Amino acid sequence: MKKSKKVKKREKKNRPKLKPCPFCGGEAVIEDAVYNYAVMCTRCRCETRWETNEGIAIDLWNRRSTMDELKPCP
Ligand SMILES: [Zn+2]
Repeated sequence: MKKSKKVKKREKKNRPKLKPCPFCGGEAVIEDAVYNYAVMCTRCRCETRWETNEGIAIDLWNRRSTMDELKPCP
């Protein structure tokens, strides 16, 4: 039996995966405005601050050391 290898190695490797929301565990998405990026939870809508660099915004979200940077929903 042959195992078919269907690994897509070149799939957007420069974009790290977003961890689930630290507050509610919801799915996070990247918001991008022009030259501005933030990561927002699709469930409770908390978000990171806006950064001009997408990678930094993702990093802020994923590190979670920035819990006070995240704005919980009102
Ligand atoms: Zn959330």
